[in-house]
Amino acid sequence: MSADASDSRRVEVYPGREVVVEFDPDLTFECVDDCTWCCHHGVLLYDRDLLELAARANLAETTTDFRGEKFVRREEKARDDHVAEDGHACAFLREDGLCSLHLEEEWKPTRCSVFPLGVWLEDGDLHVDVRESAREHCEGLNVSERRVIDELEAFLPELLWVLENPDSDREL
Ligand code: SF4
Ligand code: SF4
Repeated sequence: MSADASDSRRVEVYPGREVVVEFDPDLTFECVDDCTWCCHHGVLLYDRDLLELAARANLAETTTDFRGEKFVRREEKARDDHVAEDGHACAFLREDGLCSLHLEEEWKPTRCSVFPLGVWLEDGDLHVDVRESAREHCEGLNVSERRVIDELEAFLPELLWVLENPDSDREL
């Protein structure tokens, strides 16, 4: 991720909660129907996500431990689309390519809101950029008029500012 200070800009997303934006301010994003690429992976769950998820799903069946952290499980799907090359996808990805949590529970894990962005802490500041994997695979970048920088609240839940380690580099 770029750390070129001259390109950086600070944006107040919530009162008193700033983020250092590292991506091009003209970047736009709109999720593309039928893509589902980012739902082929196991999603890291922060503690508050775990509490929320426990109220909506069976944690023993839908989560797994990896390097001391909790992730949403990937599971084998009996279909060829909306799955990774190994035939697996997120436990909550429905056959129609939609998220059962988002649709039926009106909630999704923090990390699912953040994608295709990634965040990290640097010198006490929260930084945000497009994830490297998203630059390669996300079809929703720069295909619409919706500027990401104007809607950071939708991508960055306030929880990120109070986490000891919000970094997006942990994957299942
Ligand atoms: S990879 Fe991008 S376009 Fe594809 S489902 Fe995820 S956010 Fe949407
Ligand atoms: S929880 Fe929903 S939005 Fe998040 S990866 Fe799974 S299916 Fe996709």
